[in-house]
Amino acid sequence: MSVAVRFAPSPTGLLHVGNARLALVNWLFARQAGGSFLLRLDDTDTERSTAAFAAAIETDLAWLGLAWDQFARQSDRLDRYVAATERLKRDGRLYPCYETPEELGLKRKTQLASHRPPIYDRAALGLGDAERARLEAEGRLPHWRFRLDHRPVEWLDLVRGPAHFDGADLSDPVLVREDGRPLYTLSSVVDDLDFAVSHVIRGEDHVANTAVQIQLWQALGGPVPGFAHLPLLTDAAGQGLSKRLGSLGLGSLRDDHGIEPMALSSLLAKLGTSDPIEPRLSLAELTAEFSFDKISRATARFDPEELGRLNARLLHQTRFDAVADRLAALGFAGVDAGFWDVVRPNLSRLSEVGDWWRITHAAVTPVIADAGLTKAAAELLPPEPWDDATWPLWVNRIKEKSGTKGKALFHPLRLALTGREQGPELKNLLPLIGRARALARLAGTTA
Ligand code: GLU
Repeated sequence: MSVAVRFAPSPTGLLHVGNARLALVNWLFARQAGGSFLLRLDDTDTERSTAAFAAAIETDLAWLGLAWDQFARQSDRLDRYVAATERLKRDGRLYPCYETPEELGLKRKTQLASHRPPIYDRAALGLGDAERARLEAEGRLPHWRFRLDHRPVEWLDLVRGPAHFDGADLSDPVLVREDGRPLYTLSSVVDDLDFAVSHVIRGEDHVANTAVQIQLWQALGGPVPGFAHLPLLTDAAGQGLSKRLGSLGLGSLRDDHGIEPMALSSLLAKLGTSDPIEPRLSLAELTAEFSFDKISRATARFDPEELGRLNARLLHQTRFDAVADRLAALGFAGVDAGFWDVVRPNLSRLSEVGDWWRITHAAVTPVIADAGLTKAAAELLPPEPWDDATWPLWVNRIKEKSGTKGKALFHPLRLALTGREQGPELKNLLPLIGRARALARLAGTTA
């Protein structure tokens, strides 16, 4: 069987890290199996779906490098859902119901009050033609429910292991609304059949849907796919993520926090698994390491600070050729491999390259913390050209003259030369700053 998976977001909001994790797991599984990855926009909710959210989803997935082999939009496929409902009606599996939301709410309340599960009582199944005609004459339009078989539904979940439901414990789901629009429960199965989806990989909030949808797959005559339901991510405080949670949105991580796509993928691929979380430089590495067997059933916490640390570690391992184009696009065309290697151990986000470019190539106001020391240092600074011997030579001379060493020596030098408390090794920065600027800064002049 060839592997075909899909990621099926609704364009009713921006993708957050929880959605991205599901997209990534689908993609890694597909790539590992040499299968295909479908991006499907579940946009049948026309009131809440927008073109802007759809575009943002595509931008975010492309940024992560999760290219899709196929693309579909549910709003383009309404005729397929109509065909499926006709078939289900013909087979007696779809029946019209007329209860208003208020009437259904009342039923639920009564059931709960008498400690019965709030399952739809199938009252509409007992309606005769005359009663239906009377209800429609009142102006009521039917919504349509799928008649479940009251039998066990079982599957072997790739994450949760054996799963078991009884059809008798489930409400017959509404598949078509009063206005004729299909609901997700139906459209998703029709699409999965049409696109020959072999594995449905989604969040564990869909487990009960799966029980219902398995019967729908069978009623529509299709093969039932494999399933993997991943535990949901929570935020650092253990709260569920929502689409409205801006700071954990992909766009915000990228644009406001300078997160590298591979930092996010490295974290999301390993969060809640038995593997250690380490920076990975390519999706190919994550693909090779992926296995459902490693994914725990427990909820996993997404900690933005952990992501920040991973982002820094990833940048420290990133080679110049992997970022050259982006540096040029950021306007740092002068940054070469040598410069990159000096500053990258100090980056926590790529744009900070600009800070070090300015410090080495533009005026800096020095901070003079030990005037005696910096004056001596200026006097002892060897003439150019400099080589590898220059730095130890200079430092030894300053040590001898001033009698200082360690932090008492290097900290005032750093403050004078860069205006900063911390940064890349001074030994490597000094040649980039050059003698003229260094002399001026050591003398306390902005240069
Ligand atoms: N549109 C559904 C969602 O976002 C898709 C669920 C599924 O993968 O079947 O929850």
